[in-house]
Order: sequence, then structure tokens, then C-alpha cells
Amino acid sequence: MVAQIISGKDVAEEILTTKLKDKVKQLESRGIIPTLVVVLVGEVKASASYVKQKEKFAAKAGIKSEVRKFPDTISEKEVLDEIEKINNDSSIHGVIVQLPLPDHISITKILNSIDPAKDVDGFTPTNVGKLFLGEETLVSCTPKGIMLLLESVNADLKGKNVTVIGRSNIVGKPVSILCQQQHATVTMCHSRTKDLNAKLSDADVIIVAVGVPKFVHGDQIPKDSIVIDVGIHSIEGKLCGDVDFESAKNKASAITPVPGGVGPMTVCALIENTIIAADRISK
Ligand code: NAP
Repeated sequence: MVAQIISGKDVAEEILTTKLKDKVKQLESRGIIPTLVVVLVGEVKASASYVKQKEKFAAKAGIKSEVRKFPDTISEKEVLDEIEKINNDSSIHGVIVQLPLPDHISITKILNSIDPAKDVDGFTPTNVGKLFLGEETLVSCTPKGIMLLLESVNADLKGKNVTVIGRSNIVGKPVSILCQQQHATVTMCHSRTKDLNAKLSDADVIIVAVGVPKFVHGDQIPKDSIVIDVGIHSIEGKLCGDVDFESAKNKASAITPVPGGVGPMTVCALIENTIIAADRISK
């Protein structure tokens, strides 16, 4: 049997029409227009494309977004000053700094300078800590989007085995916490993991965020597992993920495609976080 394709594009559109637009209207009736600022440094082609997708989805939801572009010669101090300005501007509810940044700018310093209440990427130590403790926070966008995708196929994680490959701060670690909060038993794998196949063999859900094209193949996937492919790569002009989709779709019960899987959900989660931030800040 061929797997159900979990379309992040469709799930994001549904959340937009059934949830986000209404929330924006409710905020508007209180005189609040959720507003997102994206700080973009330098000329990274992929970053420009991600930012465009965010602007497009923001417009569809009816929220205001603004991109503040700076040359890659900007100093760290100037970026910090810009963030301080944004933190102090009560008309702005959410801010993200598009990564990567040029080498002379410390990502840690920049992220730590963002007001946690406006940290709609959920990257500040405060928001990561709250996520860890299970407190109300702004959950980082890709992990949040993954959980929404699992919800869309009614995946009940209670007592299930989830294998996460990749332990990055922005995907692997937070998604493993979110799965544990839903009572899954989580196995975290990384580059030093021994016998990855054994860790995959009893997985009900596999989340792959490795950054290696077509890293996981169908023969490593247990029959009827759910596969979430976070990776995105452009190879000879064609996009692919961290999972070999063609072989995996014949083993999994459900699988996300690349493109059109996790990517649109990351954007959707960002816009939802901006709406949540606007609501909380205004109360
Ligand atoms: P990352 O920071 O590069 O982390 C990669 C992780 O994979 C690390 O934990 C690394 O282990 C592990 N790893 C590398 N090689 C491995 C191997 N051979 N076996 C097992 N584990 C291995 O990556 P990331 O930021 O999480 O991103 C992962 C992928 O997702 C990338 O393709 C990225 O472009 C994509 N992404 C997509 C979205 C989206 O919205 N669609 C969002 C974020 C990221 P160590 O820790 O031991 O080094």
C-alpha cells in the first residue's frame, strides 16, 4: 500500500481559513493589527525565498509584515540596536532574525537580545526553557508545525515510539520535548548514534532532521510508520528531503513530501505565533 501523503500545504491552508483569519479579525475588532518584523542581513538566496513565503502567508492571514534588510557589512552592534528599537516599539508584536547571519555577528547574542514576548521563532533561552518546563510559551515554528502535521493525521502519540534523527536546537531537541509532552517514548539519534537501523526498527513515528539528502531509505522504515521529513535540499534544480521519498512511501502509512510538507507548516506556525504574541502583549 502506498502511504498517505501529508500535505503541509493543505494543512496550512486549512488552519489559515478555519482559525487564523478569524483570530486576526477578533484582534482587529479590539484595534490590534498583528505585526511581524523580519530582520534580513545579507544576500543569502534561500533566506530571501523563505522571507517571501512568510510575507505571502502573513498577507493571506491579514497580518502586517515588514522586512528590514541590511547589508552583510552591518556590525553586530547595529543589529542589536535595531532589535532594541523593535523591542521598544509597541506597534510590533513579533520579530524574527532570518538565519544564517554573517560570521562576524554572534547568533547567540542576537537571539538573546530579542524580547521573549516578541520572539515568534521561539529561539530565546526564556522561551526554550519554558518549552522544556511545559509552560505557556511561543513554541519554535518547525517543531510546532510538525506537531500540527501529526495532529492532522490523528496520530495519537501516547505510548508510541518516536525516533528523531537530528538534535539541533531548532528542530530535533524541541520536537522531542513536544512528543514527550504527548506521552511518546522518544529516541534521539545523532551523528554518534550506533546502529541507527535498530533505533528505527520499532518506531511508530520517524522525524528526520539530519540535513543530508535522502539519508533515510524505505528499507530502514518499519511498515506503517509515519514519516516526517524536515530536510530540504536542492539537487540539480530539484528539491528533495532527508528521506528517500520514492522508497519510503511504499513502507510508511503516511509521509510528508518535500516540497509541500514541513516547510509550509513552519511558515504557518510563525504567523500563528505572531497572532498569539499580539493577543498576549495587548492584554
Ligand atoms: P543541523 O543543525 O545541521 O543538525 C543536523 C543534525 O543531524 C545534528 O544533530 C547531527 O548530529 C545529525 N546528523 C548529521 N549527520 C548524521 C548522521 N550521519 N547520522 C545521524 N545523525 C546525523 O540541522 P537542522 O537545522 O535541524 O536542519 C536539518 C534539515 O532540516 C536541513 O536540511 C534543514 O535545511 C532542514 N530544515 C527545514 C526546515 C523547514 O521548515 N522545512 C526548518 C529547519 C530546518 P550531531 O549533533 O551529532 O552533529
